[in-house]
Amino acid sequence: MAQLDTQAKLAILADAAKYDASCASSGTSNRDSRGGKGVGSSEGMGICHAYAPDGRCISLLKILLTNSCIFDCHYCINRKSSNVRRARFTAEEVVKLTLAFYKRNYIEGLFLSSGIIRSSNYTMEQLVEVARSLREDHDFRGYIHLKTIPDADPELVRQAGLHADRVSINVELPTAEGLTRLAPEKSERQIEGAMGSMKGAIVDAKDASKRFRSAPRFAPAGQSTQMIVGADSANDRDIVNRASQLYGRFDLRRVYYSAFSPIPDASAVLPLKRPPLMREHRLYQSDWLMRFYGFTPTEVGAAAEDNGMLPLDIDPKLAWALKFREQFPVDVNRASKEQLLRIPGLGTKAVSRILSSRRLRKLRLDDVGRLTVSIAKVRPFIVTADWRPTLLTDRADLHTMLRPKTEQLELFSAAA
Ligand code: SF4
Repeated sequence: MAQLDTQAKLAILADAAKYDASCASSGTSNRDSRGGKGVGSSEGMGICHAYAPDGRCISLLKILLTNSCIFDCHYCINRKSSNVRRARFTAEEVVKLTLAFYKRNYIEGLFLSSGIIRSSNYTMEQLVEVARSLREDHDFRGYIHLKTIPDADPELVRQAGLHADRVSINVELPTAEGLTRLAPEKSERQIEGAMGSMKGAIVDAKDASKRFRSAPRFAPAGQSTQMIVGADSANDRDIVNRASQLYGRFDLRRVYYSAFSPIPDASAVLPLKRPPLMREHRLYQSDWLMRFYGFTPTEVGAAAEDNGMLPLDIDPKLAWALKFREQFPVDVNRASKEQLLRIPGLGTKAVSRILSSRRLRKLRLDDVGRLTVSIAKVRPFIVTADWRPTLLTDRADLHTMLRPKTEQLELFSAAA
């Protein structure tokens, strides 16, 4: 590997990390340096956010320790057989960079992943060393998200949890067949085994913290995972079911979806085209429906078309409502919270506002209109004190009526 300066390594290793979508920092407990102790804070004002060229939020210093790898996952630009330019940071270099960026207020923490060098254990040791040194040598209290390697020694993975706010293990692909075909050196059993151990360690630590104030923290922001969408033949229904199982079995904070992007010198087993980015968006909306709107995976799956794919032109909640029109209209002045949450165009905040306002008076269409971006989308599905849709939900062209209008491109848009 040619000698590179820090700047050149950063360019390579930050670019290599952009394929990882799971960079959100939600849900951690507070660490801070109030009172003059330590450096940084995992929350607060004055934090700069950066965005990768593809629009993903990278408000953390999001890098790989190295983009060299002894594995050969077909979908990965860093795989052994790829001819990308390679670089590698030492653990000490990552520590210095993180502190320097943090002190300049460029970042709120670190997201660190790595290709596998020498062995899974060796790589995991290096990742843990970065987090350990930041916490113990520098009293760093910013956010740390560490990717962990499923077949590394469980003791190393445990140490990762002691220093990191969030840990993640990627399931990589929605199905075991997809994993075997596209990442032959990885195994679903190993990945799920590691996620199960991590769940156990997080639960134990939570129990201990209730009993002993001095109990060490362990991954207070929980664990997450990521699935690549569109690299194999799994449809949206398969993906939604898989995500739901993962949430249930491993108590995940988030499942992230990353639309497969074709890579240079791609393997012949991969599709030539990337899936539409809207597909990734629709999957996130489905995920939201299951986590916050009371939908079961079967219900989300029922919103899909015959081929198991969610429509791209309308959101999954509207797709579900159009398929199950007999559930509507819903009377906003009488319906339960669960029924209100099913109404297309009404978010969780709007539903809470409806529930509190209707205790005081009967709600009219205008009242609901003030709580939503598009009353046109909501109107066919609700009854208010002064509005009842007549035969609107029976119209064959309701889908077309409610589909968002295609926006005209700006003449001088940035992408032109
Ligand atoms: S192990 Fe990770 S870095 Fe290595 S080829 Fe597979 S996905 Fe890429």
